[in-house]
Amino acid sequence: MKIGFIGLGNMGAPMAANLAAAGHSVKGFDLAAPCPEGVDKAESAVDAATGADVVITMLPNGQILRSIANDIVGAMDAGSVLCDCSTVDVESARAVAEQANAAGVLAVDAPVSGGVGGAAGGTLTFMAGGSGEAFAKVEPLFDIMGQKAVHCGSSGAGQAAKICNNMILGVTMIATCEAFALADKLGLDRQKMFDVVSTSSGYSWTMNAYCPAPGVGPQSPADNDYQPGFASDLMLKDLRLSQQAAAAADADTPMGQLAAALYEQFVETEGGSGTDFSAMLPRFEKRGRED
Ligand code: NAD
Repeated sequence: MKIGFIGLGNMGAPMAANLAAAGHSVKGFDLAAPCPEGVDKAESAVDAATGADVVITMLPNGQILRSIANDIVGAMDAGSVLCDCSTVDVESARAVAEQANAAGVLAVDAPVSGGVGGAAGGTLTFMAGGSGEAFAKVEPLFDIMGQKAVHCGSSGAGQAAKICNNMILGVTMIATCEAFALADKLGLDRQKMFDVVSTSSGYSWTMNAYCPAPGVGPQSPADNDYQPGFASDLMLKDLRLSQQAAAAADADTPMGQLAAALYEQFVETEGGSGTDFSAMLPRFEKRGRED
């Protein structure tokens, strides 16, 4: 396939490189980042999109996605696919799909989970929204960049799945960290706490697979001085998107709202920026009930 790839940052560069290594012809564009091995440099986003069977975008936010879509949709062939893999708000995903469809271009929103390691290793999970026809056209590319792709429904469904999942993730990480901090104060050994909870009804991915306590459970960013992993800043971004969507849909999400407020405080005023999102544990450790 002829693929245009726009946004060659931490995630986009290894994803584009994997597509090129699998034999696809990839033309990449980024405002700042260099092209990875095997990817031809385009002069502009429009240049990358012109003549492509599929255009993949991997950009910071919905506003930038909308502006790129404005630039490229008119240059794309009818029947080609615009596949956005960034994490953006549901409204932007739907607006871009509508704009593409109106020009005869198919659209898929397909945010990913798996992080930079998953992008490099080709083991991402894609959660996709769009028509069956659009999904079928890009599925072979998901198979190269990832290990699993779920077609979640119509446009916006991929972003909806992503932010609901990450709202659960943020809330459970906070619950796991505050429980460890309470256990410390009750004199409970952290390993014993893990042994009990990881096989009891309090278990979760954050406890069992990504334990925030150093030296406990499988290897995780806690064992590497809380270097990300998944940065607190990105968790804050996703929690804000969940609350934006909840407000638009009139959904009551008090735990998600509180998690967004706690990560905001952590990132913006407590030095949490640049740390892994499990660094909530040392944050709770230092605090008392009245802090
Ligand atoms: P990044 O900041 O490393 O990359 C974004 C790239 O987009 C940058 O290289 C930037 O120069 C480029 N860019 C910005 N505006 C542009 C424009 N107008 N034209 C062309 N290029 C432009 O970010 P990332 O970590 O690669 O994340 C990309 C997306 O993936 C985000 O939406 C993020 O939320 C999502 N995501 C990231 C992770 C992760 O662990 N990093 C995990 C899952 C999802």
